[in-house]
Amino acid sequence: MSKLIDSYNRSIDYLRLSVTDRCNLRCVYCMPAEGIPLMDFHDILRYEELLRIATIAARHGITKLRITGGEPLVRKGIAEFIKELARLPGVEDLSLTTNGVLLKEFASSLKKAGLTRVNVSLDSLRPERFNKITRGDFLNNVLEGLEEAEMAGLNPVKINCVVIKEFNDDEILDFAELTKKKPYHIRFIEYMPFEAGAAWDRDKCISSSQIMEKINSLQNLVPLVNLEKRTGPARRYKFHDAIGEIGFISPVSDHFCGSCNRLRLTADGKLRTCLFSDDEIDIKNVMRGGCTDRELEDLLFNAVRKKPERHHISDNIFKKCSRTMSFIGG
Ligand code: SF4
Repeated sequence: MSKLIDSYNRSIDYLRLSVTDRCNLRCVYCMPAEGIPLMDFHDILRYEELLRIATIAARHGITKLRITGGEPLVRKGIAEFIKELARLPGVEDLSLTTNGVLLKEFASSLKKAGLTRVNVSLDSLRPERFNKITRGDFLNNVLEGLEEAEMAGLNPVKINCVVIKEFNDDEILDFAELTKKKPYHIRFIEYMPFEAGAAWDRDKCISSSQIMEKINSLQNLVPLVNLEKRTGPARRYKFHDAIGEIGFISPVSDHFCGSCNRLRLTADGKLRTCLFSDDEIDIKNVMRGGCTDRELEDLLFNAVRKKPERHHISDNIFKKCSRTMSFIGG
């Protein structure tokens, strides 16, 4: 079976599936307090449609699947859906991104269903600030969810922390220290231009090298893997006496587009070949129009052929994309 290779000779083996636009939080940099107009349930891909696309994609070299949202754990039947995905031949890594609020309840059933690992989006360890960021009082739920994921054997348990200047950058060391007590993989992510409605304020962005400098002032970080051979977007380190690790994801200051291996499918059935590009391919209506698997394959290959070389955040041609993060799934 032919593999998905784009016109820059990048092997595409990672598909992120957004299963809903709904979320049980209202994060300030993702949506307004009143929320955003939600899609009609009929407009959201059904599980069997998502499974059909994942099956075809796995036939052509997709080995990594990530389940995202909105918040995927708010969609009914998510564990059964993951069980179906875990059965797909060729899928080696099945992960989920969640805000962690419902993780305590789902961790063991997700593990039993075949989920490999979990990424929890968490930008503050302070209850009052967590409430301010998410407009929800659920920090304890998230922390208990992390514990439950660890106990259930989801491995690794990663924490995605978007660092924003004068917002949560004074917690960098708290997150770093957490790796001494817990086997969590902290991922410090540079602040990207996705704010709903508001213009992106580049001055709020703190680069990975600045974050690393701050942590090294506490204790030297030891590189984990050959920094040249990336196993994902993160540059990975740890404290010599820690059980967890620390990674830096630098889409703004040091993008990793040259080794990009991913595609995204939005909850309403649009294929996005790049996080920052609004060029989308409608899969849902083609499927509901009765297309064959062969026609779906052609759509997938055509999309990959048109995958952009990279984002242009640092160039003046950069245009913020029209969807917010909750409509893409990160
Ligand atoms: S910005 Fe686009 S090309 Fe670059 S890594 Fe992200 S998805 Fe890939």
